Amino acid sequence: MKHPSSLLNSLSAALFLGQAIALPASQENTAAGNEGIVNGPPGASGDPRGPESLLGYNPSNPLSLETTVIPPSDFELAPGQSEEPDIGLYLDLSTVRNPQPIRGGTDAPTDPGPRTEAYDRLNSDLFAPPGTDKGDVPNAKWPMGISHNRAGLKSAGWARQQNVNELPVATAMAGVDMRLEPHAYRELHWHKQDEWALMLNGSVRIAAVDEDGQSFVDDLQEGDVWFFPAGKPHSIQALENGCEFLLVFDDGKFSEDGTFLVSELFARNPRSVLAKNFRTDLQALANIPEEQLYIFPGTPAPKDISEQNVTGPAGSIPVRDSYSYHLSAQEPYRVPGGTVKIIDPKSFPIASNFAAALFTVEPGAMRELHWHTTSDEWSFFLSGQGRVTVFDAPESSRTFDFAAGDVGYVPVPDSHYIENTGNETLTYLEVLLAPVYNDISVAQWLGLTPSQIVKDHLNVDDAFISKLPKTKQFILPGDPNLLQTDFNDEPL
Ligand code: MN
Ligand code: MN
Repeated sequence: MKHPSSLLNSLSAALFLGQAIALPASQENTAAGNEGIVNGPPGASGDPRGPESLLGYNPSNPLSLETTVIPPSDFELAPGQSEEPDIGLYLDLSTVRNPQPIRGGTDAPTDPGPRTEAYDRLNSDLFAPPGTDKGDVPNAKWPMGISHNRAGLKSAGWARQQNVNELPVATAMAGVDMRLEPHAYRELHWHKQDEWALMLNGSVRIAAVDEDGQSFVDDLQEGDVWFFPAGKPHSIQALENGCEFLLVFDDGKFSEDGTFLVSELFARNPRSVLAKNFRTDLQALANIPEEQLYIFPGTPAPKDISEQNVTGPAGSIPVRDSYSYHLSAQEPYRVPGGTVKIIDPKSFPIASNFAAALFTVEPGAMRELHWHTTSDEWSFFLSGQGRVTVFDAPESSRTFDFAAGDVGYVPVPDSHYIENTGNETLTYLEVLLAPVYNDISVAQWLGLTPSQIVKDHLNVDDAFISKLPKTKQFILPGDPNLLQTDFNDEPL
């Protein structure tokens, strides 16, 4: 560690002095043979507990007064770090030397440690919060990068998840990031939650059957979406290029480890019952899996999907009720500063309570201040970086920094924005449990409120009022230089 803390210094001093002072007593104890560690390993020395003389005040106790203040010569401030705290500029601590939790034009407070600078650099809005942050807002961020990775069989893939164990505020939704190597399966299964999915890379074949005996099969690529209603059995197999996908479930307590697997279904029922059910004998069941497969290597799926289009008298699931939507082929809605693709039951009816929006936000631009009226928001960051301030009534707010692979969660109806804080395009997904994607735009709300009322509340001038929009902006363009705070010349 570059800057050993005074705590560590004091500990070292105490240990040194303690040894010097206490050694005779320790030797005495050892000689008596009934104190300290009686059965220590070979090479052990000393005593893990200290002597009674260290209790409370004693003029001979060591006391270090070595300064813990880090001098300004030992650290750098990021651009904007000296500005007024309430301006709350994004602080890029990614490359500054020995970053410190400073907001405003001072050289304090400093952080002598213990610390791991990588966390501070990735979370500057937690480390040195804007002056406007206040109170207690529950944690809204979970990096999948610190989730446990569950390995599949024989290197076939992996899955990591976020549920209420990781992010307690996320009671309504949970997420899974899953990787399948080429030809690998996520085994045949079902579960009690609805499953909404976004393909993150590669290609996949999905299949399902409903309670009417209608069947479904489709191939999807990066950017496409699927939905499996609760209880309907389905399978997922990577095609020759492998794949990774994001799953969102409508229950914060969902766990990937708690699904109903066909391997377990067979292993957990009497063999005689299986023989009767499948009109066979015990010998035919001799090689069924004894343990679950979960993620495992598969034989290559036939290139011609029609070879796997198994239909019974009930036929295929009607197109209108299809379990897939080829969102990758949807043209995005373009606005200054970025794009949005909305996918909700208006275009994807089977996912009757899932409304999602896939945003791109250009450097310096911002998903506008808004909230959702009826649903919590579960979000996932696919590329770039951004920050979000969650405002929770009556008087709390907290700002969080997000990067690729992070999950975000905003409880209804807390307001939030998403500001691109990097120099590449920010891509992220918002998922709501709602029959239609919807939000309240703060700017549109005030633009459609009589200006006299707005002026009386906020003490703003006519120039401010004249810029309030009557339409929804979704995204506002910005300046890649995040120190820019004057947008008077920007169009409405
Ligand atoms: Mn599933
Ligand atoms: Mn939102």
